[in-house]
Amino acid sequence: MILERTIRHFTMKKIWCNRVKHIDTENYIIMEKNTNLDLSHILNHLGEERENYFHAVSPPIVQTSNFAFPTIDDFRKRFVDELGNHVYSRGNNPTVAILRKKLAALEKAEDALVFGSGSGAVANAVLANVQAGDHIVCVQSPYSWTYKLLVNFLARFEVEHTFVDGTNLEEIEKAIQANTKVLYLESPNSLTFELQDLRACAALAKQHNLVTMIDNSHCSPYYQNPIEYGIDIVIHSGTKYLNGHSDVVVGVVCSNKAMIQKIFSSEYMTLGGILSPNDAFLVMRGLRTLALRMERSNASCHQLATWLEQHPKVEKIYYPFSPNSPQYELAQQQMRGNGGLFSVDFKTDSIEKMEAFFERLQRFLFAVSWGGHESLILPICAFYNIDGFEPPAHPWTRVRFYVGLEDADLLQADLEQAMEVL
Ligand SMILES: *Cc1c(COP(=O)(O)O)cnc(C)c1O
Repeated sequence: MILERTIRHFTMKKIWCNRVKHIDTENYIIMEKNTNLDLSHILNHLGEERENYFHAVSPPIVQTSNFAFPTIDDFRKRFVDELGNHVYSRGNNPTVAILRKKLAALEKAEDALVFGSGSGAVANAVLANVQAGDHIVCVQSPYSWTYKLLVNFLARFEVEHTFVDGTNLEEIEKAIQANTKVLYLESPNSLTFELQDLRACAALAKQHNLVTMIDNSHCSPYYQNPIEYGIDIVIHSGTKYLNGHSDVVVGVVCSNKAMIQKIFSSEYMTLGGILSPNDAFLVMRGLRTLALRMERSNASCHQLATWLEQHPKVEKIYYPFSPNSPQYELAQQQMRGNGGLFSVDFKTDSIEKMEAFFERLQRFLFAVSWGGHESLILPICAFYNIDGFEPPAHPWTRVRFYVGLEDADLLQADLEQAMEVL
């Protein structure tokens, strides 16, 4: 049975542009009007008006803060629409604008904004949709700085929140109050990768007039497009898969034109978090190989996670595409793949043995973040035994793995030799 399902998982491999043809939402209709919006076109050509810059294949980095107006009339026209024109690079810049077009198309959204970090993107999307006296329903244990935005920052401005178990739709509904304005999702969730049923969450939010937003960094637009399920705003830490080379910090917000205009004319211009033209160029260079990198990480992750799941020194794995995952069916319905992340609880009786295991690893770096070329581990035990620091809610036997682009067999052999000390 398990074998059968695993085989199905592989043969079911859906590709990005096939899937959208079956989706019948408002957003799809918008996309259908545009021609040529297949993945290959988006990554290689969309937004690149080469006739404007010597037919250069690689776009120019327009390294300017300012744009001059040829006439007074032109000044007037451009000034009233800073999002649609080039006036000043805190708002709009030609290199950044190419990247925005590609990212919006990847998420099947009408428009996108890019920020100097993923946290900046989260903060802008949330701030634009609340005011003092409002309430946010948020999935429990979101990304750490999203948590701090709600708990430390927004609390100062009288915006309340309730954290809910995102796997339980009834709990989400019960948390909705008369003053709730936002339903904030992260699917899969950080570290233990619980999913929310995106279609059901969007439908529930519509009944209550809430703006829905999701941090889609885990899947990237390659493996999940929440707008297809009716979600209003899709947020990314582009630092992870979109850039994919561990050399740029970048954030993305995708939504409809009205929402993007609303965020642009207030939070975006006021807080001043735009990405630089230089970094936009690097992110575009990273994007060229998005499909290759995602497929590679996904396949290697599947190999390591399924191997570890059978291993006698493993207590439990957290991986939505394991046939033993309680959310396996939902994962197959709403995600086209997982990417490189999974977590493991190891079977061992001392934190010293956990540390010895980590020290023996040759091919995994110890680090936060993920989504680059290099395989990483986030050892929870490293958050234990720090003076003046509360131990985390997770056990020290837990490890988050990110599987990068190295040879999966070599990574597996490295884990195997290191696990001997557990
Ligand atoms: C890294 C991360 C962020 C924050 O993005 P930065 O680019 O580091 O600011 C937000 N959400 C998730 C899920 C992340 O992994």
